[in-house]
Amino acid sequence: MPLCTACGKENPEGFRYCGFCAAPLTELPPTGEERKVVTVLFCDLAGFTARSDRADPEDVRAVLRPYHAGLRWQIERYGGTVEKFIGWRCCDGRVRGTAGS
Ligand SMILES: [Zn+2]
Repeated sequence: MPLCTACGKENPEGFRYCGFCAAPLTELPPTGEERKVVTVLFCDLAGFTARSDRADPEDVRAVLRPYHAGLRWQIERYGGTVEKFIGWRCCDGRVRGTAGS
């Protein structure tokens, strides 16, 4: 039975789309790549751009360091993984499931 690469559920033979989440049922490319369902968190530090435009880099870093640490702590506390911080923005790529699991 074909497995949905988006939600991981089995579908009957001949289905072109997943009966559970409507994702196209295609075979995984033989490149070792894997499709995963993730939750992405975008958050922003209100007023930061205006405040940091004229600030010294050291002062900006002094604000960002505890902000990033706090964000990381909160995200990891709920089982998330921080993919990257982009400036004062944060992306949380939380894996919800993998194909075949
Ligand atoms: Zn599905």
